[in-house]
Amino acid sequence: MAMKEFTKEDVAKHTKQDDLWIIVDSKVFDLSKFAQMHPGGLSVLLDEEIEAFFSLHRYEVLQRPQYTRLQIGTVKGEKQQIFPRGIGALSNVPYAEPTWLTPGYHTPYYKDNHRAFQKVIRNFVDEILYPDAQALQEKGKKPGSKVLEGFARLNVHAIRLGPGEHLKGRSIMGGSVKPEEVDYFHELIMSQEMSRIHARGYHDGAAGGNMIGLPAIKNFARPEIRDRVLTEVLDGKKMVALAITEAFAGSDVAGTKTFAKKSADGKYWSVTGTKKWITNGTFADYFVTGCRTEKGMVVLLIERGEGVETKHINTSYGPASGTAFVTFDNIKVPVEYTLGPDNGGGLVVILSNFNHERWAMCCSSLGAQRLIVEECLKWTMQRKVFGKPLNSQAVIRARLAAMISRVESAQAWLENITYQMNNMDYKQQSNLLAG
Ligand SMILES: Cc1cc2nc3c(=O)[nH]c(=O)nc-3n(C[C@H](O)[C@H](O)[C@H](O)COP(=O)(O)OP(=O)(O)OC[C@H]3O[C@@H](n4cnc5c(N)ncnc54)[C@H](O)[C@@H]3O)c2cc1C
Repeated sequence: MAMKEFTKEDVAKHTKQDDLWIIVDSKVFDLSKFAQMHPGGLSVLLDEEIEAFFSLHRYEVLQRPQYTRLQIGTVKGEKQQIFPRGIGALSNVPYAEPTWLTPGYHTPYYKDNHRAFQKVIRNFVDEILYPDAQALQEKGKKPGSKVLEGFARLNVHAIRLGPGEHLKGRSIMGGSVKPEEVDYFHELIMSQEMSRIHARGYHDGAAGGNMIGLPAIKNFARPEIRDRVLTEVLDGKKMVALAITEAFAGSDVAGTKTFAKKSADGKYWSVTGTKKWITNGTFADYFVTGCRTEKGMVVLLIERGEGVETKHINTSYGPASGTAFVTFDNIKVPVEYTLGPDNGGGLVVILSNFNHERWAMCCSSLGAQRLIVEECLKWTMQRKVFGKPLNSQAVIRARLAAMISRVESAQAWLENITYQMNNMDYKQQSNLLAG
């Protein structure tokens, strides 16, 4: 339905506390009932300086449902000046997108299927992931059903494992790329797009444990266990957590105290111990667990069951990550569930598993940093201080330039490393890229 049109003179007749209209970017809002509830107080609303709005608010404020319903019309003859980025669209803000997505620039790394892939994941993030993240970040809940269904349909969990056999027969990101064409650049794109949700705890809560735990299963599990667990997790039916850290052992992984003792008949391990800061631990079905043995370290795939208890721990990035304190109380684990060597060589499994995790963290961290660059560029242009926009101050421009140069150089290095990963096997990656 077309909005009612008003002249500025019409609007100027409503300037009292209980009869108050204002204009923001050609839109007319009736604040008669809202004025008393305005978080910034009533007096600013009665002030005639309408330009102040953009010095005090992000544009997105106007898009919240509680404010959109206050709009009663538009100003006759005036056009909207500010258009937020549409669903799935690229940003027009300089440096808000990596070079390969910026019109006019070239790339040696990204092909048409990377571009098609990027469009699908950005749409999904804008339409489904972002609203879910904003709604659940503070509630401490795992992603909603629409997100989990989308992860399974687009095969997000499978792409998080990079290229490989596990993609065979799956529809990758809406068919934008064939399974055999997937490379680490697709995973890089997905990580960077998914980090655009302004909700770090939720981001890890969105099955981050699969990303850091599954590679150990893919690379080191017995084939029949590997295939069953991969299918369950990639189809979105089960979740994995990586359980290495303890209160006693963080950086010093070898200091692990969780103890696994092999039974006399060699058929199972008895495991007792605790793990701390385990992402997704509160809702995980499987725990890829680092344990000490009489001979050295071993990594076990432990299924949630009797003797496995998880308690939520608060973290500074929000409760939605499902971070847990995990207790194993003399549980029995069949030896078939050993990941990699069972004679004390487990440290190699743990350390090589960290490589992909670190790279993926660089991808998402850089995506989030680029978003910060975009937000800072927008805000320093919008916010007026000493009578002019913040970005007219040399010191602010120098800071922006420093941020941009760090993000761009890190992105260039990340793309270089990703290219190396595409051309090296797992062992070469561990030898040549880990450092
Ligand atoms: C958000 C988040 C999610 C996590 N998720 C998981 C998870 O899912 N699974 C899991 O197993 N763990 C997880 N962890 C735990 C993480 O792996 C540990 O925090 C990490 O290994 C560091 O251990 P620590 O915190 O005990 O720090 P410490 O080992 O106590 O180190 C403290 C500081 O000292 C520095 N330091 C330590 N040793 C040295 C040295 N030799 N030389 C110089 N500096 C040193 C460290 O860099 C660090 O800055 C998570 C942590 C965070 C913050």
